[in-house]
Amino acid sequence: MKSMSAATGPRLRLWREASDTHIRSRFGGYYYLLAWAMLWLTSHDPEQNLWLWSGGGLLLLGFFILRSRQRPAEHLSPAQLQRWLDRRWTLLLLQSLTWGLMLAGIQLHPGIIASHLVTMLCVVVFGTALAFTYPMRMARCALAILLTYLPSTAIKIHLGIGDIGESVALVLYLGYLGLLLYRWNREYRIGLERELRLLHQGEQLDRLSRTDALTGLNNRYQFNALLPNWLASARRQNSALALVLLDIDFFKMINDQFGHRAGDLYLQAFAERMRQVFRRDSDILLRLGGEEFAVLMPDTSLEQAMALAERFRAELTEQPLQVQTQSQGEHPPLTCSLGVGTFQPLCDDSAEAFYTRVDNALYRAKAAGRNRLELA
Ligand code: GH3
Ligand code: MG
Ligand code: MG
Repeated sequence: MKSMSAATGPRLRLWREASDTHIRSRFGGYYYLLAWAMLWLTSHDPEQNLWLWSGGGLLLLGFFILRSRQRPAEHLSPAQLQRWLDRRWTLLLLQSLTWGLMLAGIQLHPGIIASHLVTMLCVVVFGTALAFTYPMRMARCALAILLTYLPSTAIKIHLGIGDIGESVALVLYLGYLGLLLYRWNREYRIGLERELRLLHQGEQLDRLSRTDALTGLNNRYQFNALLPNWLASARRQNSALALVLLDIDFFKMINDQFGHRAGDLYLQAFAERMRQVFRRDSDILLRLGGEEFAVLMPDTSLEQAMALAERFRAELTEQPLQVQTQSQGEHPPLTCSLGVGTFQPLCDDSAEAFYTRVDNALYRAKAAGRNRLELA
């Protein structure tokens, strides 16, 4: 059975970043519109230059709409995710530049007398919001802050708007924002790594809990979890589902004669042989416990399952398992008994009933002398 989560690591990291960037930037455009309305209403004469104010509003509305579109799909490849991120950052940087120029523009325009305090707040608040919202990429975010900050601050210093103390405070705060961005970037990275590590550990634990440590096959816990699901799907789709139960013959003797360690090696070799014979991707190989094994075969008829199981049994006798052990003496060839059955919706009313029917066939194979196969 294939691992359920092969595509993690770098792709997941990129996807998380893209998805965070999307969620955080979705409604950000709204605040630009609000701030623009505030600048307009607090300006000296709001009824003047209406075309300019509404033109600016429309521009910001355009950004708002663009930002709320195109969420990154979960199946995207790393290259596609990187492209998505690049596109989103281009938009964010463009909007920062536009905003910076708009703030500078209303200070330069001779007909507009904007509130000095509100203009300054717009620079400081939006710069801070950028550092707080997009700490994932430090260089890009720093550029966005500079684009927001510099045009109107330069105009302010150039035209001598406000006193010198204000300009100094603005520049000092810009330095502080750099520090904040550095720290938030680190925290974002550390948080992301921690989350990915936890996810990875969870997956590993999950896999371990479903795997038999000695043979690497699926274990009984996984069998109990899977069987009812497979039966339900066979019932729904009216498809065949075969179950083969295998029990090694006289295994206790191997342990007694050659030691438990040799017994373990035989169990591993037996599992390896199973992998060689039952090799369809959909075949589910299990060690149910001790020296009992099983193969669950979806979409397989009784004849097909029986042919494969019989081939397994015959090959085990003709080409005995080779196991290197320290003990002296000839190793007897290992054989196994098998029970084979397919799910019958009319007579098996539960997973338990189906399993018991096949297990009874296995019991009959044992009783009839072992190294043989019985049909359920
Ligand atoms: P039968 O032909 O009737 O199946 O006889 P058997 O000896 O195979 O069956 P029995 O159930 O009497 O004994 C099973 C043995 O499998 C007993 C136990 O020591 C051994 N066994 C179970 N699990 C392990 C394991 O993980 N490693 C080793 N080495 N032996 C194991
Ligand atoms: Mg046995
Ligand atoms: Mg047994």
